[in-house]
Amino acid sequence: MRNVVLLGPPGAGKGTLAARLSQELGLLHLSTGDVLRDEVARGTELGRLAQGYMSRGELVPDEVILAMVRERVDGRRGVLFDGFPRTLAQAKGLAAFAPVDVVVFLAIAKDEVVRRLSSRRVCASCGAVYNLITQPPQVAGQCDRCGGDLVQRPDDRPDVIARRFEVYERDSAPLVDHYARQGLLVRVDAGRPPEAVFADVLAKIQG
Ligand code: ADP
Ligand code: ZN
Repeated sequence: MRNVVLLGPPGAGKGTLAARLSQELGLLHLSTGDVLRDEVARGTELGRLAQGYMSRGELVPDEVILAMVRERVDGRRGVLFDGFPRTLAQAKGLAAFAPVDVVVFLAIAKDEVVRRLSSRRVCASCGAVYNLITQPPQVAGQCDRCGGDLVQRPDDRPDVIARRFEVYERDSAPLVDHYARQGLLVRVDAGRPPEAVFADVLAKIQG
């Protein structure tokens, strides 16, 4: 069993990579952002708690996230953690219930992620992700897969993007050193097309 962590700033391509990588490696894809968005959409207690933090680009409190993750890890199947841990406290909490085998750091310049996030659109029905510049839908405003409406995530507005970046640099960037010191870090250049990033990650973690 292998537990893999994907680390990198918002817009580095964690979700896109995680979908392919989890399939390739037979891992459970656990995206804390996706779980939270689903809780918000369903109007659960957790969703109502998380919504304010998310819309401001702030982090949901560590204890809430740790409880949510612990509940979804059963110890039988390896997990690909996407968007978690995001703070040192979360990393320490995770270490207490699941060992991390490898951490993939998606390194990318800030102006590139700002460009990606502002042109990102998601399907309101099925969650498919598009990019107006690099991966536009066949029909403008419409999902190729299901015909649903393409919308902008509320936290992809420019002011919120800037805040998410500050929070990343303050709270999450220290995790790069934390995992490097443990000898677990694999760094890849994420400023390339998804295909190239995927191939590189696979080569580096299987090699
Ligand atoms: P991105 O990585 O593009 O910012 P995510 O979908 O991973 O987007 O997360 C969206 C939002 O959900 C975050 O800005 C934060 O509010 C919340 N969130 C997701 N994962 C975590 C986490 N591990 N800890 C705290 N908050 C989180
Ligand atoms: Zn769709």
